[in-house]
Amino acid sequence: MADLWIASNNPKKRAELARILAPLGVRLHPPGELDAPFDPVEDQPDFAGNARIKATALADLAGQIALADDSGLCVDALDGRPGVHSARYGGPGLDDRGRLERLLGEIVGVPRARRSARFVCSLCVAAPGGRVLAAIEEACEGLLREQPTGDGGFGYDPIFVPIEHADDPACSFATLDADVKDRLSHRGKALRRLAAELPALLSLNG
Ligand code: IMP
Repeated sequence: MADLWIASNNPKKRAELARILAPLGVRLHPPGELDAPFDPVEDQPDFAGNARIKATALADLAGQIALADDSGLCVDALDGRPGVHSARYGGPGLDDRGRLERLLGEIVGVPRARRSARFVCSLCVAAPGGRVLAAIEEACEGLLREQPTGDGGFGYDPIFVPIEHADDPACSFATLDADVKDRLSHRGKALRRLAAELPALLSLNG
C-alpha cells in the first residue's frame, strides 16, 4: 500500500475517500496522526482555492505529499448557495441534519423543474513548499427532494437525487449503495481522474 496524507477533519468524507482509493492501493492518513493542530483558514471564493489551501498546509506540516478534497452543494434556485459554505451553512450550531433542513426551508414551494443542484468536488495534491502537483474538479448533477430520505452517506445526501435516478421518487444519495454513489458522485469521478496520476506523484515522496 502507498501512504498519503489527507487534509480533512471530516471522518465521513475521509471514509468515502478511503473506500474509493483502497482498491488503488492507497492508504490515507488523517491530520490527527500528526502531533500538531490542523485547522487552516478556508477563505477562498471557490472550491479549488480552498482545496489548495488545505493540501499545501498539510504537506508543509507532514513534510510529505498531501491530498485535499474541497466540496459542496450548489443550488441553482439559491444562486449557487451554499457552495463553498456547505460545511458550515446556517452557522456553527447546526449538525448535518440541521443544515439540510435549513436549506430545504429556503426552497419550500420551488417547483421540481427549478430544484436543480450539483455537488462539486475539487481535489488538490500538493508537496511541501506550496507546490501544487495536481488539481482536478468534477461535478455531479441532480435534483433536490422536498423531504430527506435514507440513512447512508453524509451531509446533504438525504436530499440529493443524482440525475441518473431522477425518475425514482424513493431515491437519494443516502438510499443508494456506496458503490453506486461512488460511481455517480463528484468525488468518485474526480478520484478516478486523479488515479491515473497518483502512482507517479506518490513516488515523489521517496
Ligand atoms: P469541506 O470539508 O469544507 O469540503 O465541506 C464539504 C461539505 O459539503 C460537507 O460537510 C457536506 O456538507 C457537503 N458535501 C460535500 N460532499 C458531499 C457528499 O458527497 N454528500 C453530501 N454532502 C457533501
